[in-house]
Amino acid sequence: MPISRPKRRRPHVNAGSPVWLFDLDNTLHHASYKIFPAINQAMTQYIIDALQVERDVANRLRTGYTQRYGAALLGLTRHHLIDPHDFLKEVHTFPDLGSMVRAERGLARLIAALPGRKLVLTNGPEAYAHAVLRELSIERLFERVIAIEHMRDRRAWRAKPDASMLRRAMRDAHVPLADAILVEDTRGHLKRYKRLGIRTVWIVGHLPAASKANGTPARQPGTGRPHYVDRRIRSLKSLRLGTRASRRAAPREAPAPSGGSER
Ligand SMILES: [Mg+2]
Repeated sequence: MPISRPKRRRPHVNAGSPVWLFDLDNTLHHASYKIFPAINQAMTQYIIDALQVERDVANRLRTGYTQRYGAALLGLTRHHLIDPHDFLKEVHTFPDLGSMVRAERGLARLIAALPGRKLVLTNGPEAYAHAVLRELSIERLFERVIAIEHMRDRRAWRAKPDASMLRRAMRDAHVPLADAILVEDTRGHLKRYKRLGIRTVWIVGHLPAASKANGTPARQPGTGRPHYVDRRIRSLKSLRLGTRASRRAAPREAPAPSGGSER
């Protein structure tokens, strides 16, 4: 007996067609080039000023909260009295953004050529996300940007990789989880969200070079393919290849220089 389904609000969308969820930083552009160093520096300075702590303490708070919660903002709002909107604006506003953005060649063409709907899912703030997308000339290619301000629920700020946040965001955007493909550089986000039944693409081409500790080369996190990663790619141009051919048969690619990205 056929099951009746509620009428879709977007009749042009074919059921089962892919819905791309693109992370922003180190996915759609090379944030580790200039933007991440500038954000990290600005966040640390903000924490020094707001909490009256030494620089090394501020750096530890920033990195610790990012690792624990997915975004430094969540730790700062949970454990300290800071103005979240002021913080987001102060550490993500760059008058010289145009000279700081770097991306792969032909990016707009690559994104436009992908079949299906496209959304941006970023732990960054909305104004920053739109500014970067405008610099990249790809803003019009995305039907919506889900930024950290949109991830909030009634109780608290949320961020990737929060599971209930993603479920809610996908409901709001009328995206069945089975149709979603997350393209993302942060493995922890891919790992958590794979459990929800979405497909995962790990992009490693923008990960920063590995640092050496005590003269020992660090293990390169851009290598291998964890079980929760359906595809590992170095460049977004490989995505189109994967939509033509069988995704399972898509070749694995050479690893990039490594490092951990923040979001
Ligand atoms: Mg990222």
